[in-house]
This record gives sequence, C-alpha cells and structure tokens, in this order.
Amino acid sequence: MLSFLFPTYCIGCWSLGQYLCDACLRELDTHSEICPYCHCFSQQGVTCRDCRQSHPDGLDGLIIGFRYHESIKKAILKLKYGHISSLAPTLAHQLGLHLISHPWYSRMGPILLTDVPNHRRRRRMIKGYNQSTLLAQALSKEYWLPFQSLARRVKNTKQQTMLSRGKRWENLTNAFSSKTHDIKNYQTIVIVDDVTTTGSTLHHVCRSIKSQYPDKRVRWLVIARQGK
Ligand SMILES: [Zn+2]
Ligand SMILES: [Zn+2]
Repeated sequence: MLSFLFPTYCIGCWSLGQYLCDACLRELDTHSEICPYCHCFSQQGVTCRDCRQSHPDGLDGLIIGFRYHESIKKAILKLKYGHISSLAPTLAHQLGLHLISHPWYSRMGPILLTDVPNHRRRRRMIKGYNQSTLLAQALSKEYWLPFQSLARRVKNTKQQTMLSRGKRWENLTNAFSSKTHDIKNYQTIVIVDDVTTTGSTLHHVCRSIKSQYPDKRVRWLVIARQGK
C-alpha cells in the first residue's frame, strides 16, 4: 500500500522500482585499496607499515566500496541531508556486499559491527538519526552480523568542518571513550560509516575502542571516498 502511494525512484536515473537501479549500480567505479592514513595504495586496504608505526593504537585497515560520485554520492547526500532514512537498507546492502566479498572477510574471525557515536551531533539533532548507526544496524539486520555501540562522545567538540586538518586532530583528542561490553567472542571490530573524511574522527574512535579492548583488530568500512 505504501509503495503504491509513495513509489520508489532510482536516485541516479529516476526509473521506477528501487533507490539504486541495477544499471546505475553497474556504472559505479569501485575504489582502489588504500591505507586509511596516508591514502597510498595498500593491498587489501591494510594500514601500511609506516602508518602502523606512527599510529600503533590506530586502525588496522579500511574497506571502501566506491568512488564518491554519481548515484552513490547522491544517495549518501540524501541519507545525510535529505532526511531519507529509508535509504539505509539500500546502502547497507552495498556495504555488506563489499564486506563479505573482501579477501579479509574469511580471516577476520568473528566480527562485531559498531558505529561512530554522535559524530555529527548537530545534524543528527536536526534530522533525528545518525547515519553511521542507521547503516550499521541495517547491515547487521540483513547480513546477520552482531552490532553494538562501543564508543561514546565525552567531549562536545567544535564542528569539524570549520577546522583545518591539524586543528581537527587536536579537537578530537580525548573526545571519545568506550563503554565496557563483554565482546570477548569477537576478534575484529568493524566501524561502519558512510564516507571517509580526513580519518581523524575514525582514528580517535578506534583509539578509544583499542584502549578498552587492546586485543581486537579494528577495521573501517565505508560506502565511498572522494578520490581514486
Ligand atoms: Zn538508475
Ligand atoms: Zn599509510
């Protein structure tokens, strides 16, 4: 009944049926495998040796779905700013495909999905949801993967987009802490988000998780990134 009253159109080409039609999905470019810190090519997206040394408590790797353009960019912007939370399952489906087909997947051990807490608090207050949480929950539901919010924001930081790269890093130091959960059965924590930014938010979320659970590996899974 609802789909009759409010039909779904493809965000890329306006064809009727789904938010991202098969033809538009085929046109998307997958993203190359890069280190989450220096953005240099790194096989399977693992953190490169130099960045591992400079960020010993940082991310172990990054999985990116697509380049941030065309219909995927439009879909992400609609989820972020357009108040269309019903897009989350469509985007989470794409995230899941990238996750389960990734060469790491079979070696990750039991994984736990988590989100980036309140990291766009101002936007969340306007639209009533956090897109990272929404995507992680939708991914959890479709692929039967466990989800828990592990980190929380403890410092009300300045809006990141208003700051330079160096200031962003400073702004986020000690901004997150991790709640204690019983997660001993999981080997890898996968932080789910829509797009990569400078990586500073994710690095600090990861640090807070690793300070609480130092034996876990932490990977970052995003739909898209600007650049090659
Ligand atoms: Zn289309
Ligand atoms: Zn690197």
